[in-house]
Amino acid sequence: MLTRDVSVSTTRRDLAKTRPTSNPAAGTSVSPTLWRLPDFMSDSEQRTGYLETAPVARPLGGVEEDEPPGRPRRHPVWQDVPQDKWDDWHWQSQHAIRSVRQLRDLLPFTPDELEAMGRLEGEYKLAIPPYYFSLINPEDPADPIRLQSVTSPLEAENPSGFELEDPLEEDKDSPVPGLTHRYPDRALLVTTHVCTMYCRFCTRKRATMVRGGWDAINRNDRRMVEYVASHPEIRDVIVSGGDPLTLPHAKLKFFLDHLAAIPHVDVIRIGTRVPVTLPQKLYDPELIDLLASANKVWIQTHFNHPREITPEAARVCNRLLRAGMPVNNHIVLLKGVNDTLETMRNLCRALLRIKVRPYYLFHCDPVIGAGHFRTSVWKGLEIMEGLRGHMSGLGIPTYVVDSPHGGGKIPLMPNYLVSASDDAVVLRNFEGMLVRYQAEDKPNTVAQTKTRGVSSLLQGTQSAIVPQNNERMARRKLNVITNHEEHEHPNGNGCGNGSAPEATDLPEHVGANGNGNGHHKPLDPLLRELSEAPLS
Ligand code: SF4
Repeated sequence: MLTRDVSVSTTRRDLAKTRPTSNPAAGTSVSPTLWRLPDFMSDSEQRTGYLETAPVARPLGGVEEDEPPGRPRRHPVWQDVPQDKWDDWHWQSQHAIRSVRQLRDLLPFTPDELEAMGRLEGEYKLAIPPYYFSLINPEDPADPIRLQSVTSPLEAENPSGFELEDPLEEDKDSPVPGLTHRYPDRALLVTTHVCTMYCRFCTRKRATMVRGGWDAINRNDRRMVEYVASHPEIRDVIVSGGDPLTLPHAKLKFFLDHLAAIPHVDVIRIGTRVPVTLPQKLYDPELIDLLASANKVWIQTHFNHPREITPEAARVCNRLLRAGMPVNNHIVLLKGVNDTLETMRNLCRALLRIKVRPYYLFHCDPVIGAGHFRTSVWKGLEIMEGLRGHMSGLGIPTYVVDSPHGGGKIPLMPNYLVSASDDAVVLRNFEGMLVRYQAEDKPNTVAQTKTRGVSSLLQGTQSAIVPQNNERMARRKLNVITNHEEHEHPNGNGCGNGSAPEATDLPEHVGANGNGNGHHKPLDPLLRELSEAPLS
């Protein structure tokens, strides 16, 4: 391994060849500070080995030959960096944006913003690899990638007054420093406080502070593993951080080998944003092999926006999957980043395309310094309403609020149970259709009373109430007509066996499509019932 001094000289020499004279995106000269090695890295980051190695020209390790090469997006200042360097995670890490001085040369800021950001620099770490930075649209101050990664003056504010350093009280449920044992069969291990990119909304901002971060956890590896081994009820261990894929391989191997050897541990989950923020790290086949060798590993990654799903990210997710590791995704609901139905649908669909299962949608925790990302629970429910039924269930995450006082994850969803009687329930589907569902195999016990609306469903006088202009009902009516036309037997004994009643024109409220073309139309029983039901 090269020493840090060597890496400095190597990098400076390399950069001298590629250094642009101006930054077209920002329209300003590029400060020489941008091209300095990050000699402001913390000691602990160097100790992890994550940042200390010099860039070395190497083949594209983990990238399959048969995969089409991605077209990497690059901020103009890195346009001329040779591809082998761009694909090298060491280079990416060593050239990460780590100071406000660097930021001001790459993005436009007001003087007030720069001053506020300068004050925050001493509190919260900053690191944005060139790869991830290049996903930012420099002209959009509200760019969703920028919001997630670039220091904001809003971090100095705590808008609700309820923000806390440790809102989930993980530390109070820690029998060993760095290990949280909250749920009966699961344990969380915080194995490092180093990340490839420091997310501005992070729940564990307290762990990744410039000062007072969690250096201490580095000294409790063995105690954490021993705790898991001595608690047979623990079946599922989440190895997290920080980002555990920033650990030196030897240390990651320590955790994987020891945890995998514990008979009662069925699942080891690796919580990592590396596929999102620095996929180049997973171009290394050794790292893939190391993860796969534990044989119990699931990857839990964290895409928050569809623009993060790049060819590079897709490629490394594919490599993880092909090595036998299921990949699940957490999304955090973030104001301005993904708090619209359209963005969330696009994200979930894009995740499915790369075979990554959208697993959780977390409501953003009330963390000091991240309050400006929080949105309402109603917003989360509105998004869930627009997902369920409108896309494959495979692509729908569970929306959860992580409860204060260590109460854990509480799932929330729109209300689909509208009413209930002794033997039936009234349910609402994604279209707003209300249906009676006979819950038990026994006769209707509700006394018949003159009634209408939802109550009439409970009584069984109707079995459904369908919203106006329901596309599905219109489609169904059309299908009946089409099928009938296709299968109609010359003697009138087609699919409707010739005895089907003439279709009654559907009332407006059941979505009649006005297709009164004069053909015989055997009517779907539900359409028939709806056409005859009194308006509710
Ligand atoms: S990668 Fe995870 S631990 Fe690190 S800053 Fe982002 S959310 Fe926090």
